[in-house]
Amino acid sequence: ERERARLLERTAKSGEYYERAKAVMPGGVPSQFQKNDPWPTYLTHGRGSQVWDVDGNQYTDFHNGFGVMCVGHANPTIAAAVKARMDEGTHFAAPTEGSIIVAEELRRRWGLPHWRFTNSGTESTMDAIHLARGHTGRDIIVKIEGTYHGHHDAVMISVKPSPETMGDRSHPNPVPYGLGFAPGTAENTRVVPFNDAEALAGALDERVAGVIMEPAMMNINIVPPVAGYLDKVRELCSANGTVMIYDEVKTGAAVAAGGMTELFGVTPDVVCLAKAMCGGLPGGAIGMTDELAALIEAGQVKQQGTFNGNPLTMAAAQATLLDVLTADAYKQLHAANEKLMAGCDRVIAEYGLPAHTVGLGSKGCVVMSETPVREYRDYLTVIHHDLTDLAWLYHMNNGIFMTPGQDEEWTLSVLHTDADLQRYVDVFETFAREVT
Ligand code: PLP
Repeated sequence: ERERARLLERTAKSGEYYERAKAVMPGGVPSQFQKNDPWPTYLTHGRGSQVWDVDGNQYTDFHNGFGVMCVGHANPTIAAAVKARMDEGTHFAAPTEGSIIVAEELRRRWGLPHWRFTNSGTESTMDAIHLARGHTGRDIIVKIEGTYHGHHDAVMISVKPSPETMGDRSHPNPVPYGLGFAPGTAENTRVVPFNDAEALAGALDERVAGVIMEPAMMNINIVPPVAGYLDKVRELCSANGTVMIYDEVKTGAAVAAGGMTELFGVTPDVVCLAKAMCGGLPGGAIGMTDELAALIEAGQVKQQGTFNGNPLTMAAAQATLLDVLTADAYKQLHAANEKLMAGCDRVIAEYGLPAHTVGLGSKGCVVMSETPVREYRDYLTVIHHDLTDLAWLYHMNNGIFMTPGQDEEWTLSVLHTDADLQRYVDVFETFAREVT
């Protein structure tokens, strides 16, 4: 209650914005994920690793726009590239060289031969599902329980199912995530737990078009794949003639140059990207095999959109991938992440907090649980959600910008300094001291 009262007082102007915004936007926000209790924190600007809210509070940003801003806020290199493009025209709905350069770089990073562009992660996974169904002529999509792949119908199933609806672990129910979907959506989806190749094997048959998965679950903190799991998924999909789809919207250009595909050495048939690859402009991409690309080329699977490959977005993506997120930048991000995790590990050990850290490339988190989380059902049962909520309030009140709850992870940018990392550890330590 004390921390909540402090937040309300510190962000009073956000409260006023919220009242005004509610009149014109449901929940006072442009997107449901920006909704928050007691109200959203309305921001004015960001520079490097820092953001400021409308009350004038300054925060070190570990939220980083849901993991988009690995380049840091107002990065001069990105800003210069975008400004230069502004002067040359921002939209033609005709291809520019920028799209070729970015596609070539994505091919180099992921090893998949063909690329197309989209405007968001949702569009990337939607196109991937069309490719899987178009290629196989089959209907069923297998997805992982608890995973979010954007808000088009085919993947809005069992995103965060409640214990009452999700059914038995051996046969999870496909549970629609909200209203508005045709009844056939759930019927065409099979749900399996993450990190369980046997369960996947049981779900595959001649009706399954595609398996869509995040190679590491990134929306219940971070859940890495157990040893051998991704290889097994690859083997099972190939044997069943099923298209294997990686949703690397979150991991993409963030955890390594070639994302999880590079880190774990298993290449799917389709990779979906968005978020970090465009350095803060809205955009995404899908990478695919020769066989799948042929379907698009022939116009059989319709992959299209007015703003696909938009020159401004491509200018930002080119600067992000070629000039800012270089091989050295990934080394820097990985070292910074190790440092932050080590700092948090020390605090956890010293104060006996029921928690542990998990990290991946530029991303990491403190999981408020003594035991590891291997799949969605663990997340429901082993995490101390009350501690998590309190930690969020505590961080926000002490100048650390983060998403609430135990769903997201921190994302570091190339503009985070050692002092920024220390700041996080210091705030975490005062939190640990107070609650233990
Ligand atoms: N896939 C994953 C793994 C995501 O985390 C998200 C968004 O958070 C999406 C897809 C959808 O991306 P977008 O919000 O750009 O549509």
